[in-house]
Amino acid sequence: VEKEPGDLNAIIHELLPLMWADANLRGQSIIFCPHEQLPRIGMNSREIKQLILNLVRNGMEAMGDSGEMKLETDLVNGEVVMRIGDTGPGIPADKLDKLFEPFYTTKSKGTGLGLSLCLSIAERHHGRIVVDSVAGEGTVFSVIFEQLATDEET
Ligand code: ADP
Ligand code: MG
Repeated sequence: VEKEPGDLNAIIHELLPLMWADANLRGQSIIFCPHEQLPRIGMNSREIKQLILNLVRNGMEAMGDSGEMKLETDLVNGEVVMRIGDTGPGIPADKLDKLFEPFYTTKSKGTGLGLSLCLSIAERHHGRIVVDSVAGEGTVFSVIFEQLATDEET
């Protein structure tokens, strides 16, 4: 895919009004805590937006009224990290390895394609996705982007 150096914080800021409106309709809230010195990463902004919206929508669908989404960017050991956390019911440990399989869904009208798409997008960005979930407390999806030379194109 086409990539160019991009600012992940700016992408999230662009999507915030949309996500905020969605959260509002559901009686939920969403906050964003950006890392202030985030380096640029090679990205396809259309794909990264799709990745973010899919993870945020899943979080919102998992939470009830008054749920809280938290988006965060961070720099950990030189890698750009984006965390998308919810205060939903969590994901049972024995289901964690099924999540990214195409067509795996627990929703009556789900497609089960959202997370498999997210994984493909992360992989095309030399990234990986880590899931941390605590029953009754919530789930955090972390997308970890490997640092690339900013002029790299693949
Ligand atoms: P869909 O949203 O269409 O069901 P996804 O691939 O996006 O498909 O997600 C697959 C399944 O993973 C969901 O049906 C749900 O069971 C589980 N899941 C994904 N995100 C969360 C989350 N934040 N909290 C709890 N369960 C989740
Ligand atoms: Mg989904």
